[in-house]
Amino acid sequence: MDLSGIPIIDVHTHPFDPAKDDADFRTHFIMSLWSPPASVYTNTIVVRKLIRELAKLIGAPLGSSQDEIADLRNKLYKSDSKAYTQRLMRSTNIKTMLVDTGFPHEEFTGYSVDLKVFSDLVQCKIYPIFRMDTSIFKIFKSMPATFEEAFDITEKDFEKAIKFDKVIAFKSIIAYQTGLEIFKHTDKEASEAYNRFKKNKNTADEKILRDYFCVMGLRKAKENNLPMQFHTGLGSAPDLDLRVANPILMQYLLADEEIRDIKVILTHSGYPFTTETGYMTSIYPNVYCDVTAINSYYGIAGKKAILELFEFAPANRIMFGTDGALIPETYWFGYTQGVKVLGDALEEMVTSDWITAGEAIEFAEKILYKNAEEIYKIPGNK
Ligand SMILES: [Zn+2]
Repeated sequence: MDLSGIPIIDVHTHPFDPAKDDADFRTHFIMSLWSPPASVYTNTIVVRKLIRELAKLIGAPLGSSQDEIADLRNKLYKSDSKAYTQRLMRSTNIKTMLVDTGFPHEEFTGYSVDLKVFSDLVQCKIYPIFRMDTSIFKIFKSMPATFEEAFDITEKDFEKAIKFDKVIAFKSIIAYQTGLEIFKHTDKEASEAYNRFKKNKNTADEKILRDYFCVMGLRKAKENNLPMQFHTGLGSAPDLDLRVANPILMQYLLADEEIRDIKVILTHSGYPFTTETGYMTSIYPNVYCDVTAINSYYGIAGKKAILELFEFAPANRIMFGTDGALIPETYWFGYTQGVKVLGDALEEMVTSDWITAGEAIEFAEKILYKNAEEIYKIPGNK
């Protein structure tokens, strides 16, 4: 099923600066913080497919080896990264990107990317997402004298993101730190945990504090009628503990009376916990998911993931995107192959007579841009 004519909103991605990256571009398709050896990154089906598709686009001579195709790509990218990036983007139907400005970020990588420059580079409309962990990171790094001070710093950062940066959503990566089983705590409990933690760093108090600030972010999102994304499922190894990244762990928090009406998006559909994710979007009134990261990085798993989501998920709760970062291919591969994988999954549902061909198109339009327009309140995309 060919969906390439449908416009795309990428609901979760990152800005990049071509001047900042000099690793072999193929390594960026392995989700690891350790640089993978060539014997790994040259032998995955994602990289094999990527190289084959790139060879067609850049016109590599027939019979070129993987390294020869990579060399040609590097030459083109180095000589004019803007022209190369735009060539890739123009071969897709990407119109709008929602970018997580928490990576790259001064606090983590030593630099941030100017969004105007990035928008000009990729020729898309760009809307920022506020990764609230950049603020929490500051607190844990500097440990201000009192809990009240720490609270004020966070509060000011949240307000700045909303009023000054005009963010379209909040995002939490608490899954990477203390996991998704988030509990609500009172100001008094958090303040006591802060004082204990300041004297003696320990994981129990760290969890209380991270949970507390996360709920504070949810409340801020609610006050300002913004959705909040949560990283769920696989992430950069070995930082992420997959055992605490299953979105099902959020079931009690999301059922809480105060939290229930905040729009929460389970990014990456909790992969590999996609059945659980789909189930949650069908139970909770305000829970959504996106197939970011599954696209671009997990290749053939995308079809299985989409079919698993559809075991329970209503079509108006699933969104599309890449989690692209660092190099243009991580976006381009998702916009080309990810859209094909979505078409394959929908076609399978048509062939087995679960949906009609008309419904497949209706679902594809919802997933590729209509749901995002509604959930993130993005002005017309066509
Ligand atoms: Zn991301």
